[in-house]
Amino acid sequence: MKLGRRTFLGAGAAATAVALGQLRQRPANAQFGFGRGRTVNLYSSRHYDTDDQLYEAFREATGIRVNVVEADASQLIERIKSEGQNSPADLLMTVDAGRLWLAEQEGLFQPVTSAALSEAIPDNLRHPDGLWYGLTKRARVLFYNKETVDPSELSTYEDLVDPKWRGRILTRSSTNVYSQSLVGSLIAAHGAEETETWARGLVANLARNPEGGDTDQIRAAAAGLGDVAIANTYYFARLIKSSSPEDQAVAETMGLFFPNQDDRGTHVNISGAGVVRTAPNAAAAVQFLEFLATPEAQQIFAESNNEYPVVEGVAVDSVVAGFGEFKEDSLNASVFGRNNPEALRITDRAGWL
Ligand code: FE
Repeated sequence: MKLGRRTFLGAGAAATAVALGQLRQRPANAQFGFGRGRTVNLYSSRHYDTDDQLYEAFREATGIRVNVVEADASQLIERIKSEGQNSPADLLMTVDAGRLWLAEQEGLFQPVTSAALSEAIPDNLRHPDGLWYGLTKRARVLFYNKETVDPSELSTYEDLVDPKWRGRILTRSSTNVYSQSLVGSLIAAHGAEETETWARGLVANLARNPEGGDTDQIRAAAAGLGDVAIANTYYFARLIKSSSPEDQAVAETMGLFFPNQDDRGTHVNISGAGVVRTAPNAAAAVQFLEFLATPEAQQIFAESNNEYPVVEGVAVDSVVAGFGEFKEDSLNASVFGRNNPEALRITDRAGWL
């Protein structure tokens, strides 16, 4: 899709009106000296080429320049903490509500109220007090080896502890926030005690000790090291789109299954962003968030990582659309974070490495 100036004019104008009202209440020297003109300083743990297109379109529509500092989430959180009151950071963007929760616990965010954001982004994908907003969505699903598993054998996350799966399940480490958030969602559904029993059952059914990332689990299942892998949807889309024959063979061998369709729905998580408590350009930061929640920006932003848009009615990438529609767990993403310490204790005790 080609980005034109016109695409963003409508949203830009509306957002500017909002921001102007807020700017009047801010000191005249609110901007930080990253360059001349109005700026917003984005600390982000994501980078895709199309993100740069979006920053440019935002600048064209509003005159506000986006300065990006890229690092992984924990580095960015440490950096904002050490910069303290003088931090130039306006927005912190990262993946997984569990990581947003960590930043929230450090007191790094300020509450943001925006009619545009609360109308565009569903309740369950944003913080109840507006500390952060989900911008893209991913589902944590099951991938099965089509040669050894019939999809009719699959049903729920809970069923993965059934003895029929002994030595057949692949998952990454519980030190990863994706695993922790999934466990956090199970705690919300079943309570801590039952979830610990589940975690022990899962460990008992593992094909091997957890190693590698999500794609490694899918590859291992395709290679016959196990039969069912737990992984996020966008990793599979990447394999399908890959030009490597090995990746295409993996994608060919594996099927995607959305668990828990007959009850609460599949676990979904987000990438998202919040306005930093000490933001020197808070109004511009809100304006940028509102821009990212427009349908045009949503489509580009989600497609760059083969994710789902959070805004309803926005077109989904064709490969991702090919996964089919599914029912998602409507649990508020802030709960994964709140349950994170408990999830860590449970996975520890269960011996989920
Ligand atoms: Fe990922």
